[in-house]
Amino acid sequence: MKEDLNPFVISQLQFDRAADHLKLDAGLRNVLRRPKRSLIVSIPVRMDDGSVHVFEGYRVQHNIARGPAKGGIRYHPNVSLDEVKALAAWMAWKTAVVNIPFGGGKGGVICDTRKMSRSELERMTRRFFFEILPIIGPDRDIPAPDMYTNAQTMAWMMDTYSMTVGYSSLGVVTGKPVSLGGSEGRNEATARGCLFTIQEACRVKRMPLKGAKVAIQGFGNAGSIAARLLHQVGAKIIAVSDTRGGVVNPRGLDPIKAIRHKERSGSVVGLPGTSRIRNEELLELKCEILVPAALENVITAQNAANIKARIIAEAANGPVTPMADEILTRKGVFLLPDILANAGGVTVSYFEWVQDLQSFFWEEHEVNAKLEKVMKRAFREVHETSLKYRVHMRTAASILAIGRVADATIVRGLFP
Ligand code: NAD
Repeated sequence: MKEDLNPFVISQLQFDRAADHLKLDAGLRNVLRRPKRSLIVSIPVRMDDGSVHVFEGYRVQHNIARGPAKGGIRYHPNVSLDEVKALAAWMAWKTAVVNIPFGGGKGGVICDTRKMSRSELERMTRRFFFEILPIIGPDRDIPAPDMYTNAQTMAWMMDTYSMTVGYSSLGVVTGKPVSLGGSEGRNEATARGCLFTIQEACRVKRMPLKGAKVAIQGFGNAGSIAARLLHQVGAKIIAVSDTRGGVVNPRGLDPIKAIRHKERSGSVVGLPGTSRIRNEELLELKCEILVPAALENVITAQNAANIKARIIAEAANGPVTPMADEILTRKGVFLLPDILANAGGVTVSYFEWVQDLQSFFWEEHEVNAKLEKVMKRAFREVHETSLKYRVHMRTAASILAIGRVADATIVRGLFP
């Protein structure tokens, strides 16, 4: 049977599995399984050569029953409305897994940032944000960075919003530079949260993290910092990769050197002391822990049987398909699902938003300590749910999250 790799179809399939366990009634299911609001915008931008290019962008709010929508904005040539809809749904479940008072949203623009100048990027970012402004705001929907967007992108968005409303609004986006109301620890938060869940998984599986071999696909914000933090606690990073390919050294490589090499040359490929491998080969390496930290659908029915890792921590959103999930479960792989494993980012985004609203900022050790508490509690609750319902960790995380959103929806009642 051929697998449907449409991310929105996949997110609905995952939803249905959890809804069956929760025995949600048909009406509530229909409310929760589709986005509340989807906005499609055209973004005309004057390019450096004087021509005008019209980009297409999206902002989707999946559910706001538990609080304002929250979720990143992605710039990538393959962005589609269905991808953004799936990512928005995952955000709604993610904020509920870690039990922070947000709903779920996501945005994206179809573009290739590697072919754009900084000023073109700034003009596109500002016009995109202006176009989605009617549904954005610190009490409505608070964007954050995702693939190929960063703290600078967030600063332009914050400025665009502030110029429009006539005052400086710090709480409208998170993942901002620390000099502009950003939070200490936000840049590392996704990877740090992922580390905490890996530590808990190792405890449950009685597997030492010290000396464990780790392979990481994707070497951006999530992947490169995960490599650094895992290395710091004694794990052995044996392989890393980016769009241009991967590098491997079974005896371990130094992530700091890999980060410097990528800064200089644009890729991890060519890192001294390593051999080159393809991205697909990296996933199948003999290792204890595999961290997909790039794109969706990289572990599918095609390659799941070849995976040798004992723990998979999904730093990326949607890297494993439902058919692959079943194969991995049969193989005994312990999978930390995206809505748990990468929830550290949105958790510290929540801390950033709280600090912005109070204009009172915390030190990094406070942020990290609070993050650790949230992530370890979420892991415990997901693990307990998995034992109670006898399901794998992904379905357990969905049951926990969708149950919370369903409760909020029921108690609020149907308007009008
Ligand atoms: P990023 O733009 O910083 O980095 C992306 C990395 O992936 C780059 O190193 C790029 O070279 C690599 N990459 C792209 N296509 C690839 C491919 N086909 N094969 C291998 N590598 C490839 O993005 P990021 O913020 O690190 O996001 C990565 C993933 O983590 C995404 O799925 C994102 O949704 C998820 N995530 C990020 C955050 C966050 O706070 N940044 C939070 C939660 C989830």
